[in-house]
Amino acid sequence: MSDSKPEILLIHPDPHFRRDLAKQIESWCVGAFGVVTAANAGDAMAAMNDMPKGSLELVISARIEHLDLIMAKRGWAALAMMSNEVPDTAEVFTLPLPPSREDLEDLFACWGSARRSEAFAVPRAVTVHRGTASTAQIRALKRLFFLNAITCKWEADGGEELAVMVDGRTVRPSPASILDALGRIPKVDRPPDFPYDLVIVGAGPSGLSAAVCAGAAGFSTLVIENDSPGGKAATSINPIKNYLGFPDGISGVTLSQLAVQHALQSPLVDLRPGIRATSLQVGNPRIDVHVETEEGTSYAVSAATVLLAGGQDPRRLEIMNHEGLIGRGLHYGALKCDQLEEGGRRVAVIGGGDSAGQAALLFESGGSDVTILSRGELSDKMSADLRADVIQEVGDIHEKCDVICLEADKDTGALTEIYTWDERHGLERFKVDSCYVMIGGVPCTAWLRPSGVKMKSDYVITDARLRGGRGRDTLMFATNRPGVFAVGDIRIGSARRVGQAVGQGVAAVASIEKYVRRNPAVLEGGQSPAADMARIRSISGTN
Ligand SMILES: Cc1cc2nc3c(=O)[nH]c(=O)nc-3n(C[C@H](O)[C@H](O)[C@H](O)COP(=O)(O)OP(=O)(O)OC[C@H]3O[C@@H](n4cnc5c(N)ncnc54)[C@H](O)[C@@H]3O)c2cc1C
Repeated sequence: MSDSKPEILLIHPDPHFRRDLAKQIESWCVGAFGVVTAANAGDAMAAMNDMPKGSLELVISARIEHLDLIMAKRGWAALAMMSNEVPDTAEVFTLPLPPSREDLEDLFACWGSARRSEAFAVPRAVTVHRGTASTAQIRALKRLFFLNAITCKWEADGGEELAVMVDGRTVRPSPASILDALGRIPKVDRPPDFPYDLVIVGAGPSGLSAAVCAGAAGFSTLVIENDSPGGKAATSINPIKNYLGFPDGISGVTLSQLAVQHALQSPLVDLRPGIRATSLQVGNPRIDVHVETEEGTSYAVSAATVLLAGGQDPRRLEIMNHEGLIGRGLHYGALKCDQLEEGGRRVAVIGGGDSAGQAALLFESGGSDVTILSRGELSDKMSADLRADVIQEVGDIHEKCDVICLEADKDTGALTEIYTWDERHGLERFKVDSCYVMIGGVPCTAWLRPSGVKMKSDYVITDARLRGGRGRDTLMFATNRPGVFAVGDIRIGSARRVGQAVGQGVAAVASIEKYVRRNPAVLEGGQSPAADMARIRSISGTN
């Protein structure tokens, strides 16, 4: 690291944009960084040559997706041309044009946390060679990159197969493999059969907040996650405005990234992404959590206690044989990054709640021709303010209609038509290019059914809701199975809010501490950092 002031290099051909953004960055950095601007690759290279060695820390350029914006293309071209010249001590970010305040906040939040974390000390380059990848594969990758705040270069060449490369090494196109190759998730030193004090299933807000507290309480903790760490909060289109401490709201991706970083601060907390919990065997005294890796390997993790924090998956349409359309025009849930893909296309949003309303407005403002198809009336579930905006902005709203069939193009297999039925109009047909389904969620509990964990409507029942569970001995968030607790959206009666999930994660760890004190035999003697009962007993403030 150089002794001179660290530098941020901002490359953009538009002088007004450059000047405004540079001013904004300078005001955020309050003198801690110098901001150097350049109009093109040549200027940028010259500026880099003038900088003291090692001082360049961040390069910001425009992103290519806005193909109609020549400026953005030039910005990207500049970056692509000079990318080999950027020293590997610098992070490179690209921005859509024009960037919104949230885009900039995301960038700085990701970069700020990157600077704080040793895992980011060596920035690495992600390149995708498209090969003959299908649109569905490309779309899935774009969504993965968005949810995990990863920037990459897209190359059209590179052979037949889709290849995701990190630092020139091909990696599996999954969150776990890419995050691992990027060094974002610290390597787990403990062996797979390590006897953990606590295994948390799900790295969403509830599981991650529990991990923070469990690490602080001295529990050796494993968090397993089968998708992108951070959970569903990252999928929110609008900023999350109801989470305490962020009066102007915070983007879901930023909140999720920061939550993962926070949970990983404790040396007692391990996070293994790319792993799915497949069954639970509650023994006496310990619990086996059976897992499967994305490579297909199965093994059991031994735990003193287990916290179920798997949240919800999007609810699927109740129509036959539509799985093949997923990613080929049919999408469960809409992400902010989808807006760029859908400009100028016919988009149907199925659903009548807030998420559907936000998605409809997102696509409408991105220049799509939007149709809303809702089984109920929008007034049933959509908040009044949002509904007023949706009614004003989206011309084509069909309420009280059922989607009964989807049709695909015979050659390409892509979605082309949606058929609906309603009492007033009977059968109707909608020609579409894409369809986003936002009809609520279902709890991720199918894997738990054989375990004997009590559920109602597939949601986990805990504490006072358990029959006879009102006694003073029932711990909060305890399920009917000894040592197994549940928090967040997976529980029956959840408010489905980040704040509630986070609060429950905290409170559940307090319950788990009590459980461990009452049942010391569950701890594996000697091997676990929390096995020292004197230390467990000394945890203050709990009884
Ligand atoms: C589109 C959208 C917008 C939202 N907007 C807001 C908002 O503005 N404000 C607000 O407060 N809340 C909002 N929410 C709700 C909020 O995101 C959730 O309440 C919160 O994320 C719940 O946290 P959780 O930890 O319980 O579950 P989740 O966030 O769902 O996390 C659970 C994690 O567990 C993983 N998992 C599941 N099963 C397994 C398994 N078997 N093995 C391994 N891992 C598993 C999942 O992959 C997931 O990452 C929104 C939700 C959505 C979908």
